[in-house]
Amino acid sequence: MAGGAGIHSLFIKPGREKSLKRRHPWIFSGAVARVEGNPSPGETLLVRSSGAEILAVAAYSPYSQIRARVWDWQDREIDAEFIAQRIKNAAAARRTTDVCTRLVHGESDGMPGIVADRYGETVVLQLLSAGAEYWREAIVSAIADLPGITRVMERSDADVRALEGLRPRSVWLRGAPAETPQIVTEHGLRYTVDIEQGHKTGFYLDQRENRLLLRKLVSAKNVLDCFCYTGGFSLNALAGGAAAVTAIDSSAPVLAAAQANAARNNLCGVEWMEADVFQALRGFRDGGRRFDVIVLDPPKFAPTSAHAEKAARAYKDINLLAFKLLSPGGALMTYSCSGGVNAELFQKIVAGAALDAGVDAVISAWLHAAADHPVMLSFPEGEYLKGLVCRVRA
Ligand code: SAH
Repeated sequence: MAGGAGIHSLFIKPGREKSLKRRHPWIFSGAVARVEGNPSPGETLLVRSSGAEILAVAAYSPYSQIRARVWDWQDREIDAEFIAQRIKNAAAARRTTDVCTRLVHGESDGMPGIVADRYGETVVLQLLSAGAEYWREAIVSAIADLPGITRVMERSDADVRALEGLRPRSVWLRGAPAETPQIVTEHGLRYTVDIEQGHKTGFYLDQRENRLLLRKLVSAKNVLDCFCYTGGFSLNALAGGAAAVTAIDSSAPVLAAAQANAARNNLCGVEWMEADVFQALRGFRDGGRRFDVIVLDPPKFAPTSAHAEKAARAYKDINLLAFKLLSPGGALMTYSCSGGVNAELFQKIVAGAALDAGVDAVISAWLHAAADHPVMLSFPEGEYLKGLVCRVRA
């Protein structure tokens, strides 16, 4: 037996081993018969069947419904070397041409609860589970050792940390604090990324390829970008030759950043609106306004499937309004980043919205997060971002 983990064991209830045997990396509290030994939060334990067969090694999360997260399926030592190797492997799997990239994508990179985004020489890290917290020093050292990295900032301020009994934490860990905001380049456009205060780690890297796709749909079109954040889709619409762009967000600071980003790229022609999208879309409907291309990229309405029903109503509402606002032959690019709404359900919601709007529409593309956000086949929850391009009949 490998050292370390062997002193603690988590026993699975009889008949509840199935998902583990299918290599799903989460062990829910309801499947746990008992824990032997006295593991502290984040410590490694052996996961055993009711017959004491070793099924996995995992990190213990005593306060979370997800009671343990699997590091590996065989009995092996989890130590700083293991952590460093996983991080090196994750980094090696990224395209070397992307200097702004997600380096580590949680479970799908074999690193449950760990997210690392690279912006040039700076890595922004999120440690979101007890296991991630336990291995903090090893993780930070391994990231700081990657070639080309001089600074590491921690942005562990996501709500999910509370579920693990962890406090939010936002702090520079390595290197002198970078000048913030930082400037990053994506598809030839320059953006300020506020890694200290911005959403998530500062930028929505997951939409990289989809922002490029929008460019191809908008030549001479009148575009509406809903939930525009720092202007990613709007700037790409202008770069793709849109005739006019209207961009809506409810946050004044992100709109100010979006405007600065447009100016930085010498792009003009965006009507920036500080408004609630739900209300703004109704206002456009009542005012008889029409758009040729509409982007809907809302925040996460359903963090888990428990929120799916309420989220479904919100998705239906904005998609229905968007279908009504499209000019004949127009295109809707619509997303859900809710883990609790899977691709099948999202497509059903959008189909219901088109039906209620009284339009015929076809799906012309199924969209996903960029390739640096891989999805482990045994962990479909990893596919959190799904999108559709729907074209309505002319
Ligand atoms: N499309 C963006 C990311 C969108 S993130 C990109 O590619 O970078 C979601 C955005 O929705 C955030 O900027 C948030 O401020 C905004 N938001 C959340 N609820 C809103 C609402 N009800 N109305 C308008 N904006 C909202």
